[in-house]
Amino acid sequence: MSEEIALEKRKPVKLSVGGTLFLIIHLLPILAIWTDVTMFDWLLCLFFYYLRMFFVTGVYHRYFAHRTYKTSRWFQFLLACGAQTTIQKGALWWAAHHRGHHKHSDTPSDPHSMKLYGFWYSHVGWIIGPDYNETHYDQIKDYAKYPELVWINKFHWIPPLIMGVATVFIGAKVNSGDWLNFEAGWSTLYIGFFLSTAILFHGTFSINSIKHYFGTKRYDTGDESKNNLILALVTMGEGWHNNHHYYPAATRQGFFWWEVDFTYYILKLLSFVGLVWDIQEVPDHIKHSKNIKEAMELRRISLEKKAA
Ligand SMILES: [Zn+2]
Ligand SMILES: [Zn+2]
Repeated sequence: MSEEIALEKRKPVKLSVGGTLFLIIHLLPILAIWTDVTMFDWLLCLFFYYLRMFFVTGVYHRYFAHRTYKTSRWFQFLLACGAQTTIQKGALWWAAHHRGHHKHSDTPSDPHSMKLYGFWYSHVGWIIGPDYNETHYDQIKDYAKYPELVWINKFHWIPPLIMGVATVFIGAKVNSGDWLNFEAGWSTLYIGFFLSTAILFHGTFSINSIKHYFGTKRYDTGDESKNNLILALVTMGEGWHNNHHYYPAATRQGFFWWEVDFTYYILKLLSFVGLVWDIQEVPDHIKHSKNIKEAMELRRISLEKKAA
């Protein structure tokens, strides 16, 4: 049975409406050829990439999917809106599917197993096809109890629409000095907003596909997750994916000081000013073990030492 599913998913997928839009977003930056692209547009592209990579990893992933820290109700809503400017659908949709990925890693129920379905399906096929359009609210009951989150999840296109329109105005002002000179703002929209969005798609989806392929494995997680420094830099810390599969409850994914994890540093800064709290660290017995059996043994020894 699992082989049948795997073969089916390796065939070309039928495009959904969202999938068609996804492809169009890749083509929009080409329109910049007919505009005067400025240095500001490129800098904004870089800034929007990293700002929104933080939203993907710090919000969709480490907050909504794994609940690794806490925040207030109003800031949680603001974070969801920020995350959704990435055009990666609603925060509840994203997090519910990701919970499925951890529960069923590299088995037929994993929405995007590169091991079973190959690179293309695990990278983009599952998103552009019709199989995973719905939000599985039963997987995300803890956040679906907030009506404002369900609302913004349903109208997930509102935050990117506002950001796109704002980008045109800002581009017009910076590139020509006049807020209403839209001619000067189109290049900012194509490069600053759409190009960074398209690159961000692939930065994010590499977490699903090649992070279960390239890299080293420190922990025995029973799946194909790997650690990779280059991917950690591109994705602000998500490259420590084997660490993450071993202990998803931690806010940090770089378990050691040399494992750079910019998402974690930013969340730490937000905790210093009181916007978020209860950031989860990695317990020593987890960090220094290879598998769960060994971790339990290390924990037992350290508890005995404390009691003595
Ligand atoms: Zn995860
Ligand atoms: Zn994974």
